[in-house]
Amino acid sequence: MEEIKKHPAEGIARIVVLGGGESGYGSAVLARVKGFDVFLSDSGTIAPAYKTKLEEWEIPYEEGGHTAELILNADLIVKSPGIPDKAPMIRAIRERGIRIVSEIEFAGWYNRARTICITGSNGKTTTTTLTYEILKQGGLNVGLGGNIGASFAYQVATAEHDWYVLELSSFQLDGMFDFRADVAVLMNITPDHLDRYDYQLQNYADSKFRVIQNQGKGQTFIYCDDDPVTLQNLSRHALPMQTFPFSVRHEVVPGAGLENGRIKVTMADKSTFEALVDELKIKGIHNIYNVMAASTAALLAGVAPDSIRQTLRSFAGVEHRLEPAGERNGVLYINDSKATNVDSVWYALESMTRPVVWIVGGTDKGNDYTPLLDFARQKVKALVAMGVDNQKIVKAFSDAVPVLKDTHTFAEAMDEASRLADPGDVVLLSPACASFDLFKNYEDRGKQFKQWVTEHK
Ligand code: ADP
Repeated sequence: MEEIKKHPAEGIARIVVLGGGESGYGSAVLARVKGFDVFLSDSGTIAPAYKTKLEEWEIPYEEGGHTAELILNADLIVKSPGIPDKAPMIRAIRERGIRIVSEIEFAGWYNRARTICITGSNGKTTTTTLTYEILKQGGLNVGLGGNIGASFAYQVATAEHDWYVLELSSFQLDGMFDFRADVAVLMNITPDHLDRYDYQLQNYADSKFRVIQNQGKGQTFIYCDDDPVTLQNLSRHALPMQTFPFSVRHEVVPGAGLENGRIKVTMADKSTFEALVDELKIKGIHNIYNVMAASTAALLAGVAPDSIRQTLRSFAGVEHRLEPAGERNGVLYINDSKATNVDSVWYALESMTRPVVWIVGGTDKGNDYTPLLDFARQKVKALVAMGVDNQKIVKAFSDAVPVLKDTHTFAEAMDEASRLADPGDVVLLSPACASFDLFKNYEDRGKQFKQWVTEHK
C-alpha cells in the first residue's frame, strides 16, 4: 500500500520567526498567509521598512531582545541564516526539542514551482543572477530568491511562478530537511565560514552537499568536475539523480566542457549547446564555470539555445564582482570587493592581463595566502595592504612583490595605489578578507572605491 506522506506542517499551530531581515520577514508573511499563529523576534533592531510591513500584515514582533515565554511556546522555529547555532536562544530552543528550520525549508513546504538551487563557496550570486536572467529573457515565468532579492518565502506567499532560481548559503542548507531541489548546482567547495563549522572543512562540505538531499531519478545535479573537494565528497553520497559535471579541463558527456574557446554543453539526449568564450562580457575561468552551470540549468528548464546565447552576450556581471569602476590617467580601476576569501582572489588575479596594483586586506578569516603567491610574483607590481592589522599579509607577500605598502585607512590606500599605478596598469581591489575593520560591509567598501574613482577622474 502506498504510504500517504504527512504534510510537514501537520500539528503545528504557533510559528516563531527569529530574525527580522528579508528572510525572516518573508517567512512571517508566509506563516500569516497560511493561517498560523505567528510571532517574529529579533535580538537586534529591525529596519523601519520591515516594521511597517509587519504591521501592515498584522504580524506581532519584538526587537532588541528575545522574550523566552513568547518563543519557547512555539511548535516550529524559522531561523534566519545569520543566527548561529551557538546563540543562547537557539540552545534553549533545542533543549526543548522544538523543530528549527530555515526559510527555504519552510517555503518549500508550500512551493509548487520547480526550483534551481545554486550553492558553493564562490560564484553563487553570479551564477544565480545569470541563470535567472537567462530564464527570464527566455520567456519563462521565473522568480529569483534565496540570498538575493525578495525572499523565497515572501514570493511563495504572494506570487505565482513556474520556476525559482535560488541562491543557497550553507546556513540556509543547514536548516533544510524535506526540501528537494529539482536542479541542484554546486559550484565549488573551498574554505570559508569555517568558524561556523568547528573549523572542519568536512562539516562545511557536508552542509554544501545538502543541496542534493532527497533528490531521486527525476532530479538533476550539476557540479564542477575540476573541484577537488567536490570530487572527494561525491563518493560519500548516493547519486540516483541525473548528473551534469562541468569542467574546463576535459570533455564530459553529458555535461559541459571547453573546446577551442567554445563552451559545449551536451545533454542526456546527446543534443549540444555551444557558446563562444570571446563573446562573453564576463571574463576569467571562474566565469566560464559560472556560464557552464547556468547554461546547463537553463537547457534543463527548456530555454531555447539562441535565447541563452543572447543573454550570455549581454550579461555584464553583478556589482562588486570584478566590476570595472572606470579609467583614470590610463589606469583601469576594478572593484572586486566581494572577493572576501582566498579562492575568489585567485580567480581575480588569474583573469588579470595588465600589471596589477593590488589592494588587499581587512578582517582576516584565518586565511592561508600560499595559493596566491605565484600570481603575486607574476602579475603584481605593487601590493597595498589595507586594514587595521596587516601583519599577516605583509609577512605572506613581502618576498613575492617588488613594492608593498602598509596602509590603515581607505584614503591612504587609494592614495598609495593611484601613485604606484602607471598608464596601462590595473588597480584591483580584491581583498581576500571581510570588510568589517574599516567598512560597514563589502558593499560599502566597493561603493567607496567606485566613488573615489568617480571623484578623482
Ligand atoms: P558568492 O555569492 O558565492 O559569494 P559571487 O558571484 O558573489 O559568489 O562572487 C564572489 C567572488 O568570487 C567575486 O570576487 C567573484 O569574482 C568570485 N567568483 C565568482 N565566481 C566564481 C567561481 N566560480 N569560482 C571562484 N570565484 C568566483
